[in-house]
Amino acid sequence: MENLENLYREVILEHYKNPRNKGLLPDPSYVTVHIKNPSCGDDITIQTKIKDNQIVDCRHEGKGCSICCSSASVLTETMIGKSTDKAKIIADNYLKMVANKIYDEKIDLEEAEVYIGVRQFPARVKCASIAWQAFMQALAKK
Ligand code: ZN
Repeated sequence: MENLENLYREVILEHYKNPRNKGLLPDPSYVTVHIKNPSCGDDITIQTKIKDNQIVDCRHEGKGCSICCSSASVLTETMIGKSTDKAKIIADNYLKMVANKIYDEKIDLEEAEVYIGVRQFPARVKCASIAWQAFMQALAKK
C-alpha cells in the first residue's frame, strides 16, 4: 500500500481530508444509491440529481478508507455539469481503468486519473470502484 499511497498522495489525501459535495439532501428529486464493501468496511451513498439529461448535482456520504472516500469526492466534482451520456462514458472508462481492463485512454477522466495506480493493487480496486458503481446504478434508475 505504501507505493499507492505515495503515488497520487496529494490529490487523494486532499479529497479525503476536504471532501467536496459531502452530505445527503432530503430531496426526493435526487436518485440515491447505497453500496457497502464488506472487505474493508467502506460504506458509501451517492445522490444524483438529473435534469434534462444533465447531472445538475451529485453528493456523497459515508465512511471508509482514503481511496474509497476520496474517490467519491472526486466522482462528484467530475460529474456535476456533465450530460448523462458523457457521465456514463467517463464512469465506464474509470471503472475499467481501476480494474486493469482495456479502456479508452482518449477519454478525459480529469482528476479521476489519479486512481490509475489502483490497478496494481487488486485488493483496493473495489475501494476505488464502489462510489462510481453507485453512481452508475443511480443513472440506470433514472
Ligand atoms: Zn476501502
